[in-house]
Amino acid sequence: MFRISDHRVSDKAAQLDADRAHLLHPQHHPSEHLDPQIWVAGDGALITNSEGQTYIDGLSGMWNVHVGHGRRELVEAATAQMSSLAFASSYIGATSLPAIALAEQLSAIVYPSINAFFFTTGGAEASDTAFKTARFYWKTQGRPEKVTIISRTLSYHGSTMAASSASGIPEFWEVFEPRVPGFLHIESPYPYRFTGCGDGITPGIAAANLLEEAILRAGPDTVAAFIAEPIQGGGGGVIVPPDDYFPRIRAICDQYDVLLISDDVITGFGRTGRWFGLEHWGVEPDIVQFAKGITSGYLPLGGIGVSDRIKAAIDAAPAGRRWMHGFTYSAHPVCCAVALANIAILHDEGLVERSAQRGAYLLSQLRELEALDHVGEVRGLGLLAGVEIVADRATKARFPAQAEVGKRLRAELLARGLYTRVLGEVICLAPPLVTSVAQLDQIATILAEAIPAALAF
Ligand code: PMP
Repeated sequence: MFRISDHRVSDKAAQLDADRAHLLHPQHHPSEHLDPQIWVAGDGALITNSEGQTYIDGLSGMWNVHVGHGRRELVEAATAQMSSLAFASSYIGATSLPAIALAEQLSAIVYPSINAFFFTTGGAEASDTAFKTARFYWKTQGRPEKVTIISRTLSYHGSTMAASSASGIPEFWEVFEPRVPGFLHIESPYPYRFTGCGDGITPGIAAANLLEEAILRAGPDTVAAFIAEPIQGGGGGVIVPPDDYFPRIRAICDQYDVLLISDDVITGFGRTGRWFGLEHWGVEPDIVQFAKGITSGYLPLGGIGVSDRIKAAIDAAPAGRRWMHGFTYSAHPVCCAVALANIAILHDEGLVERSAQRGAYLLSQLRELEALDHVGEVRGLGLLAGVEIVADRATKARFPAQAEVGKRLRAELLARGLYTRVLGEVICLAPPLVTSVAQLDQIATILAEAIPAALAF
């Protein structure tokens, strides 16, 4: 009989032998697991490994620990709920107090026309739920042929069959094909590299018009929804769209009766300096997806919110044609209680506004990196930023894969006390919203040293 405490006293080599023998990791490959971190503790924006080394958590765990590590309020919320009622089903005919309170709370902070919520355990289930709900909606409207979901290259929506079929990264589906049918992709609005501009038209409008072209090619009567992350995170390495992109997307969706799904899994709950991402551009989606920051990762929770007209369609469906969807852990009471306590912290400590202010400060510090030889672009919004490294700034050419620039950057950042992800050749930053100004300065200083060190071949 093993206990976690037994592992604490044994040596790292033995722990890793057991890990390699018995654990499959997300995106598993042994060559990238030769010297993994064993994280054992966290405090605010810092995390500590089993050897006692402490790092700035530059990606808030997995873009999710908004309120920082070690928050007693969340521990206490979980303990109190677990002590009174650890689990109750939320299948139709039953509910729980934390679930009611959380849904009501969300209706106050999520986009105004979205007032009804369904809970999952994470982001990929939220994607599948959104796709099924979009199709369901059109069936209730007597338009059952509207089934196709359009998404974008470099997008990431999760790893289930449908979510990975929607994601615009071929590595996620090629080894598992065939993909789920009914998914189409258009090019991302990637200002640094977008090539589709025409005369007299801005890059944002040109990129949005790709949606109109795709809808017309497929036939407007066959398209159910368009899904987009307000800022592309995990796939593209923090791509901030031009300001005119999403308003034009909304207009196209309205023109062709296509639902707009906002995947706010990374951008939700203050990450970008607003509660939800599309607020930056005054746009409201028909369906919003969330996860990650809703509990700051203390427990798994995700979900979707639907607009009033979709809620009305779900309510009006005949019982035999109901919205036949759900999970055992939908609206798990302990996860909902933790989410409520987490949202209370975000409110009470003004962390959404702080994300806007400190994010602007971090970006101004990072912009100084643009003086370095191989820094192609620095971009971001709120406490979400990307630093794109290129071989040649004039041509924007990337380094060849054999140069292993991502791996070298990760190692140099780690050696200087910053743990984060490098996607392709973009250094991604999403520190906790409680990260101090001094720690943000430290992040910028570490990048300024690590980038030249990693590229000194
Ligand atoms: N959507 C987006 C935008 C994401 O970034 C992620 C995860 N990084 C997901 C969906 C999937 O979430 P999960 O890993 O919780 O399934």
